Amino acid sequence: MTERTCYACGATAAAPATRCDCGEPLWLACKPLDFDWNAIVDAPGMWRYAELLPFESPGGLADAAGGTPLLRLPRLDEFAGVRLHLKDEGSNPTGSFKDRGSALGVAAALASGVDAVGTVSHGNMAMSTAAYAASAGLDCVVLVPDDIPESRIDLISQYGPALLRVAGDYADLYDRSLEFGEELEIPFLNSDVPVRVEGQKTTALEIYEAFAPEIPDAVVLPVSSGGHASGVWKALEELRAAGVVDRLPRLYFAQAAACAPIAEAFAAGDESVSAVDGGETIAYSIANADPPSGTRALAAARETGGGVVAVTDEEIRAARRTIAERGGLSVESASATSLAAIRRLADDGELAADDDVVAVATGRGISESPPESDAASVDRVGIDKLRDRLAAR
Ligand SMILES: *Cc1c(COP(=O)(O)O)cnc(C)c1O
Ligand SMILES: [Zn+2]
Repeated sequence: MTERTCYACGATAAAPATRCDCGEPLWLACKPLDFDWNAIVDAPGMWRYAELLPFESPGGLADAAGGTPLLRLPRLDEFAGVRLHLKDEGSNPTGSFKDRGSALGVAAALASGVDAVGTVSHGNMAMSTAAYAASAGLDCVVLVPDDIPESRIDLISQYGPALLRVAGDYADLYDRSLEFGEELEIPFLNSDVPVRVEGQKTTALEIYEAFAPEIPDAVVLPVSSGGHASGVWKALEELRAAGVVDRLPRLYFAQAAACAPIAEAFAAGDESVSAVDGGETIAYSIANADPPSGTRALAAARETGGGVVAVTDEEIRAARRTIAERGGLSVESASATSLAAIRRLADDGELAADDDVVAVATGRGISESPPESDAASVDRVGIDKLRDRLAAR
């Protein structure tokens, strides 16, 4: 499976190309279009969709990727302004949907006979790639910025990768790593490379299967590089091409207002996404000022009749708190942008109270300290007064 195509101009290319001559990212060419939904196999996690994937599971940790729950959470409806469903990607082994792309990336590396993989990340993708490489017996090289906090180093290095702090312009590393990786036979599983996008498309297949034969009115997910958004769009288009669905849910993407190149391009009606001067946000996992698949995500939002929304850190905090207090789930701040965006879209009348809307909670928050802690206001009580205190609740 080496054929790649360009969503924008339709050109094709062979592996290892990752970008089209027109400048847009490539994705893997579609599998045969006679896919029969009833033929999905009884396999673990994301491998149920083996028919639509180019590689088989290598076993081990890969078998635990995907297969995440889609939860109906009515106690969030009032805040959300819609009938809210939450796709809990935090229940992947390393805590985010990146596991889907890492699992398929490692399967591809094993199939091609190389003995190492790499990635450019200091967040979830770094942990995820390192974990799946460890389980598959592949070496893993993770390129992180020189000024990375020590706590991040600990989180990533627990899986035993070769971690390299790279001095210089970190933004350059995306392309440089692909170049060196090709030369040195270390496939770099960066955020929007075709095989990662292909694995991450399984999020949408699971959402569809949970609703089938209906489809949700809208699916909302946080977007940074645009890799996940691209995969979700691709999967839905494949289902349509195979005649499984005749229309797609609207795709809405959420960004943090401080760093929102895709939302800005959408609002301006631009054809393509340009780099911005990104500011700080609590949603650090989605703060990409120059997203490599930004224009493709923009196309996905437009083609499905959806949109791209920028939400403030204050809105993100409120959404994150509500997901914990009314849903019982701890999600990363970046993940809470989907609920914040849904609330905004409902307020603006883009989503209606009886719409079935899926918020993709892309990563779990349990390992991230909450944006505002109530620890200081926690009461102390002596054991002799405990009964009275409980009665007073
Ligand atoms: C990586 C990541 C995203 C953004 O995904 P892209 O594919 O880069 O757009 C969103 N949320 C979390 C928690 C992530 O780790
Ligand atoms: Zn092209």
